[in-house]
Amino acid sequence: MRVLLVEDEEKIASAVKRGLELKGYAVDTVADADSGLSYAIDPDYDIIILDRMLPGNKDGLDIARKVRSEGQKAPILILTARGSIADKVEGLNAGVDDYLVKPFSFSELVARMQALMRRPPIPNSAVLKYEDLSLDPAKYEVKRAGKSIKLSNKEFALLDYFIRHAEQILTKDMIINHVWNEDAIVMPNTVEVYIGYLRAKIDRAFPNRPALINTVRGFGYKLSRS
Ligand code: CA
Repeated sequence: MRVLLVEDEEKIASAVKRGLELKGYAVDTVADADSGLSYAIDPDYDIIILDRMLPGNKDGLDIARKVRSEGQKAPILILTARGSIADKVEGLNAGVDDYLVKPFSFSELVARMQALMRRPPIPNSAVLKYEDLSLDPAKYEVKRAGKSIKLSNKEFALLDYFIRHAEQILTKDMIINHVWNEDAIVMPNTVEVYIGYLRAKIDRAFPNRPALINTVRGFGYKLSRS
């Protein structure tokens, strides 16, 4: 099994390489995005592990996007310090198959790699549905009543959270914690503003259909028929 590891932290790179080689993997390591990119288009890799934050003007997701567009089908695992849903959605959109949040244990890395390599290349992740609404996390597509809806990254992450928790009351705090990353500055009305954007596209654009994003006064919001 050929493994490409793109990681600029030398300690992590050499420890992972050594560990994987003991398990019988052939591991190439490179430390910057440009070399990563030129290595990663090689179709012989069975799995590609990309650190998200790399020196230079490209990051791990840029490499993922580029190599997918070049037809690379090997599973891609991203190593990241950031693990919010919004980042995961961004990663899925870039063709990433899985995430491992730093710091990670070596045994967890191996378990994730093995799970990915058992899967067919570029898995069809399940399309999420509620009523006449559908959301495809892999293709980054949203439709209502068969009609495509264009959402921003943040609106997409918000709807993803709603649809995975349909008919449950979601408080503003729950929404902030799941949709915004830890470094984000979220003002008290930020959630309301984004709910407003989403309602305009999901509900008000479909006046003949029931509104699905509902306010539960004093508690929060709920994706439901009424
Ligand atoms: Ca790094």
